[in-house]
Amino acid sequence: MPGLRRLQLKIYILADMEGISGIRRATQVDPQSAEYHGEGRSLMMREINVAIEAAFAAGATEVVACDTHASGGQVRVGEMDARASYETPGPGRPMPSLDGSFSGVILLGHHARAGTLDAFLDHTMDSSAWFEFRINEAVVGEIGIEAAWAGHHDVPVIMVSGDATTEVEARATLGDVETAVVKWGIGRQTAKCLSLPRAHEVIAGAVRRAVERAGRKEFRPYKPKLPAEARLTLYRSDMADGMTSRGWERVDARTVKKVVQSMPEMRW
Ligand SMILES: [Zn+2]
Repeated sequence: MPGLRRLQLKIYILADMEGISGIRRATQVDPQSAEYHGEGRSLMMREINVAIEAAFAAGATEVVACDTHASGGQVRVGEMDARASYETPGPGRPMPSLDGSFSGVILLGHHARAGTLDAFLDHTMDSSAWFEFRINEAVVGEIGIEAAWAGHHDVPVIMVSGDATTEVEARATLGDVETAVVKWGIGRQTAKCLSLPRAHEVIAGAVRRAVERAGRKEFRPYKPKLPAEARLTLYRSDMADGMTSRGWERVDARTVKKVVQSMPEMRW
């Protein structure tokens, strides 16, 4: 029923916090910070709703939103646009209901990989442990890891938002992808942000373009060559000690590797 498939335009929004517009200090993304974290969550909810609205306006027939920061669960469900459904990552399932029926993934509020100059809160998965992550020699951050997961289901990442370095990394990793820059890192710990109305305009514009183009099947999924070799370098050797019991092979004091036949096997 090819006609039926064309009528469906399902979009998945995976929101992180560091790249959300208006977030400009680490305490706003820190669940331990009672004073500032609430503001960060409010800013994230507003931006998720802007993206949901733009996705439906551009023809999406279904939107699922998920938040990934601090293992997820940071969204304020009661404030979310009622047309979207929502979920939280589970163990080994960064986007639990994502499957081949989706037309595109939006990586909202994302950030550059560990070790990026002038990137606001740059890190890869665990900012206190991960120094560098590679898939088949290519150094990747969370954008590449999540895109590879989506690519396992043949779903392309269609839009990425965050600071200026996030845009550079998204294009270098994924090639043709819509992007929205809402801030500029000033060193790692602070950022200059667009005003919220302007940032939300930029987000909505990029989401609309991305969803329209996804409807025309203009994006390609990110699919690293399989079998793939993952290589993780940690900050200290004791951090690598525990990895061998989880199926990783020791390369040197701080580095472990693993060959996988598919992306879901790439667990740590
Ligand atoms: Zn995060």
